[in-house]
Amino acid sequence: RTAHCDTDTSGSLPVLGRDVTVPLVTGGEVTYAALDYAASAPALQRVWDDVAAYAPYYGSVHRGAGYLSQLSTDLFENARRTVAEFLDCRADDEVVFTRSTTDSLNLLAAALPADCQVFVFETEHHASLLPWQDARVTYLNAPRTPGEAVATLEKALAGRDPYGPALVCVTGASNVTGELWPVRELAAAAHAHGARIVLDAAQLAPHHPVSVQELDVDWVAFSGHKLYAPFGSGVLAGRFDWLREADPYLAGGGASKKVSRRTDGGVDVEWHESAARHEAGSPNVIGAYSIASACKALTEAGFDTLVAREQQLVGRVRQGLAEVPEVRVLSLFGDDAPRVGVISFVVEGWNSSHFAAALSAEYGIGVRDGLFCAHPLVRTLLGSDPQSQGECGAPEAAPGEKSLNAIRVSFGVGTPDEHVERFVAAVK
Ligand code: PMP
Repeated sequence: RTAHCDTDTSGSLPVLGRDVTVPLVTGGEVTYAALDYAASAPALQRVWDDVAAYAPYYGSVHRGAGYLSQLSTDLFENARRTVAEFLDCRADDEVVFTRSTTDSLNLLAAALPADCQVFVFETEHHASLLPWQDARVTYLNAPRTPGEAVATLEKALAGRDPYGPALVCVTGASNVTGELWPVRELAAAAHAHGARIVLDAAQLAPHHPVSVQELDVDWVAFSGHKLYAPFGSGVLAGRFDWLREADPYLAGGGASKKVSRRTDGGVDVEWHESAARHEAGSPNVIGAYSIASACKALTEAGFDTLVAREQQLVGRVRQGLAEVPEVRVLSLFGDDAPRVGVISFVVEGWNSSHFAAALSAEYGIGVRDGLFCAHPLVRTLLGSDPQSQGECGAPEAAPGEKSLNAIRVSFGVGTPDEHVERFVAAVK
């Protein structure tokens, strides 16, 4: 019972790590400004407190008659319900706990029906771009407006084999530009052509409410560590028919309902027909519990409030960057496109990796540099040669030359004004 206790329902959402200090090359130290939420967000204090309250009580899930084992099983199964509510799932959807978004999308890829055609924009994060290589994949060119995205998908689907199964995979918010994708319209296009759609919500769910029913998507995938919970857990939520038909993602205990020796010496297995089918092994109950805790905390704080605050910070960063003539902000859909708190840019005359290193060493600011696991998208945005080597260590771009990699600043719940002001001043 103690483990169920909610520690803070006040609506304020403190995060961990706000008092961490780091040394500066210029001497002295400064509190760390974590502006790399898109890679991993700091955990909410509330999540940490919930996990700490539960920790003394934890036991193995689905395994024992002991009280603590039953309590853990309860928490694990309640976590599914909390996530299903958070995502506004349909009544017969299943929530499968995975390790991450990457794991969730690979699980779905492993469960595709035979001959499934997959449609994916080249602008996706590698986690949503690459798992489909064993299927018949069509990579769609980068659209330059949300409308073009829908038209491109419609055209591709119109030319598909209309009788076989098909899947569209799309991100809700880009991990490079932060721009929002027209998910509802893409879902409508997919369904109009008899295809299904999976939403990569790794960057959307931490910043926006996601409703499976309103968006009418078939699956949603996201990661705990970007949603203010610790590392190690993720979610694939949605329709279960394809997953029920598929072989278990991992073979082992927990996924199997009944195992018996055959007279010919082999082994017969009856697999579970629920989420457990794809959760073999001892489940990450702390991971599931912390995701559920984060979902509750975000819901209680209210996305209206969270989005309004984040948009204030987006505006401040955009304005600050616009005041530096050498800065170019990267955008697929244009400067006015709505975006979450994820902004990438290049600075003329600077190697982005050196620039990011300087922000860290001289100002205690943590941002990301590189191609952000979205190489085709970043190369399109930079206008660089598709074969160019643009990761860390890329040569400095002289004035007028194209950069080969970029800098990304990202933020969200718990980001103080001071971090954003320090960042803007440092860039200047
Ligand atoms: N999709 C998007 C849009 C992402 O930003 C990321 C993480 N950068 C992923 C998928 C993969 O998430 P994870 O590393 O947690 O599997």
